[in-house]
Amino acid sequence: MRILVVEDEATLRAQLVQAIADAGHTVEAAADGREAHYQGEVEDFDAVVLDLGLPLLDGLSVLRRWRAAGRNMPVLILTARSAWQEKVAGIDAGADDYLAKPFHMEELLARLRALLRRQGEHASAQWHCGPIQLDTRAARVMVDGQPLPLTSHEFKLLALLMQRKGEVLSRTELAEHIYAHDSDRDSNTIEVFVGRLRKKLPAGSIETVRGLGYRLVDAGTAA
Ligand code: CA
Repeated sequence: MRILVVEDEATLRAQLVQAIADAGHTVEAAADGREAHYQGEVEDFDAVVLDLGLPLLDGLSVLRRWRAAGRNMPVLILTARSAWQEKVAGIDAGADDYLAKPFHMEELLARLRALLRRQGEHASAQWHCGPIQLDTRAARVMVDGQPLPLTSHEFKLLALLMQRKGEVLSRTELAEHIYAHDSDRDSNTIEVFVGRLRKKLPAGSIETVRGLGYRLVDAGTAA
């Protein structure tokens, strides 16, 4: 498995890298938030150990940006002892688990194993539609082999269209899929999201079926 370790304190970072590598994983390390954000955005990791107190960009902001960009790898955050607000903020920002400092390396490795196990239970799926390729596990989209940055709403929308490519999906169906809460559902906003997604995809990928909804088709090399 590939693990990213983000910790600004050099001694602890070296210990984490060593322990996780000894457990049989490939480990990459970052010492500040900006570098961490970049690595997590452009590379695929099976899990991330993320310290919250980081130079240049704090850990919570790093996590929020990854999640907003649809990066959904499991993240274990390292928080200051007794700072329960940090744990709450971390979970809200999309952390999968947390561990308070100082911790025993054995406990960190056990938490990491649990995260990787849970992650493994979600079968990875690759969906294709012409030049578009969507990896459900890494939450990543490629067009003609090039990464396509999408917001989390755009990603969810495209995932549903790809899962059911060729079928016409109504705006209501798309809205139900995108919004967790009834109160947020507004099928008019779907039009906006579809419009944005359409601009990013090869021309002709999303067809409008008047009065019914939208359909994803193989636009081939028309673009
Ligand atoms: Ca720190």
